[in-house]
Amino acid sequence: MKISVIGTGYVGLTSGACLAKIGHQVTCVDNDEEKIAILKKGGIPIYEPGLKEVIEEVVNAGRLSFSTRIEEAVEDCKVCFICVGTPPRESGEPDLSYVERVAEGLGKSINEYLVIVEKSTVPVQTGKWLKRTIASYNLRNVPFDVASNPEFLREGSAVQDFLYPDRIVIGVESERAKEVLLEVYSPIDAPKIVTDIASAELIKHASNAFLAMKISFINAVSFLCEKVGADVCEVAEGIGLDKRIGSAFLNAGVGYGGFCFPKDLRAFIRIAEELGYEFRLLREVERINEEAKHRFVKKIRQALSDETRPFPGNLRNKTIGVLGLAFKPNTDDMRFAPSIDIIKALLSEGAQVRAYDPQAIKKAQPLLPEVEFCASAEEVAEDADLLAIITEWEEFKKLDLSHIKSRMRTPIICDGRNIFKREEVERLGFTYIGVGR
Ligand code: NAD
Repeated sequence: MKISVIGTGYVGLTSGACLAKIGHQVTCVDNDEEKIAILKKGGIPIYEPGLKEVIEEVVNAGRLSFSTRIEEAVEDCKVCFICVGTPPRESGEPDLSYVERVAEGLGKSINEYLVIVEKSTVPVQTGKWLKRTIASYNLRNVPFDVASNPEFLREGSAVQDFLYPDRIVIGVESERAKEVLLEVYSPIDAPKIVTDIASAELIKHASNAFLAMKISFINAVSFLCEKVGADVCEVAEGIGLDKRIGSAFLNAGVGYGGFCFPKDLRAFIRIAEELGYEFRLLREVERINEEAKHRFVKKIRQALSDETRPFPGNLRNKTIGVLGLAFKPNTDDMRFAPSIDIIKALLSEGAQVRAYDPQAIKKAQPLLPEVEFCASAEEVAEDADLLAIITEWEEFKKLDLSHIKSRMRTPIICDGRNIFKREEVERLGFTYIGVGR
């Protein structure tokens, strides 16, 4: 099927490449000319494991191309997926202006029946507005349908998640759109849930809110664990083995971040408010998430202060080595990463921060100009007073800690993701501080 994908970021590029991989003829569009130029030259503007290989395969097979022009991409096309960003405004509402611009472009350029699909995460009832907006530019009254097909892929495993999803949600208001979308996804073996558009939109926000709630729940439990000397990892294992709960998203740490959870949660709270419901449960989820970051900074402060002083110490003249900047492993994405807030707090207290991340340094540099970026974990450890683990990259789990210790000024590890075993680290002579243990 001939398909166009508008917005060639983490979601659009992965979706476009994977739709081509399952046999469709896809054009990916972006208004960022630099991005499209990189892609046309065989490059890839983001880091996402396995994506480069898929793109190479489908470009060579002639099934994926790139363009900056919507009208070129939608010509003779049956389905168009909108995958542009929906970033948060100050008020928490999502900024739908990117979607609006695409709606205008589509309204002006459709030339035959088209299923226009919102894949970007949008608040419930956006489908109705999208339909009206497209119609207002569609002066020739070409028939079209709007549908919702929320995306659940995770950065870091986006290709696998797209090709082997837990479910595919299709929100439609016509039989014709339903048939087209079921055909698009027929090569993918996954449960397909067909709903009305509003339900599909709600499924996305409710799913992300629920996952964020699990993270905040275990973080709240971790505070209690610390009070009584219990280990949150064992508690989480004991909870998670209950099939009704499940073990995913029960890792205590420094809180969630990324382009989805923080903004989707805020948007969900805002849309609920608009609809007359105050979603206090989700406000508390947000509050606990902020608290997790503050508590981590507090642990660092306590670990480095002189206990004989009458007032809590500050971090002046302390060097803190940070391992991990991306909001999670296997991505270079720094959007709303907890590392940003944590590092800014450390800097504001006078600390010097040296940091390393396997992929995110380039994106972190403009956000954290006062940080000294290093080329390896070993370099970060050099003369550091404390090592803070913020992102659980696999390579950090395999570090030669004896070697790391020999480079540090004082051997203290503040493990914000509980990647190490306390006994092993302490046996090497470190002071170990985890989360909830
Ligand atoms: P992104 O910022 O990586 O990509 C968005 C792209 O859209 C950018 O390349 C931008 O240049 C392009 N764009 C903006 N306006 C355009 C226009 N008028 N015409 C053409 N291109 C335009 O964002 P993303 O992470 O891919 O997220 C996109 C949407 O998908 C968001 O709504 C997000 O919430 C949702 N989502 C993201 C993820 C994720 O893991 N990143 C997962 C599921 C859903």
